[in-house]
Amino acid sequence: MDCIFCKIIGGQIPGNFVYQDETVVAFRDINPVAPVHILIAPREHIGSLADITEERAGLVGHMAVVANQIARQMGIAENGYRVTINNGPEGGQVVPHLHMHLLGGRQLSGRLG
Ligand code: 5GP
Ligand code: ZN
Repeated sequence: MDCIFCKIIGGQIPGNFVYQDETVVAFRDINPVAPVHILIAPREHIGSLADITEERAGLVGHMAVVANQIARQMGIAENGYRVTINNGPEGGQVVPHLHMHLLGGRQLSGRLG
């Protein structure tokens, strides 16, 4: 599978992991836009949020729980943080492997898009 995140998850490309479990991993974004910028992705190759059906809804919930846990670990939980999933080209998705951005550590813009 020619997917950069699958290669990071599979260990073929180094990743700066901050969390791993059976179903998801979390690693630092290579081009952070905030002091904390973590990507949370399923181990399984799922292209995007658009591929999430009812049977897989729990996976996205788990990703949110993991984001909350990492936010607490990184000390940004109290001040607040942003969780974003870009979906498809006009949604700003560049890497076609489902991932959640966890952003924090500074005042984020109120603007979305
Ligand atoms: P998207 O725009 O698809 O929602 O976000 C993709 C994110 O992946 C971007 O923030 C980008 O900086 C990050 N990224 C792209 N390639 C790599 C890589 O090889 N390693 C890591 N750690 N992050 C990457
Ligand atoms: Zn993949």
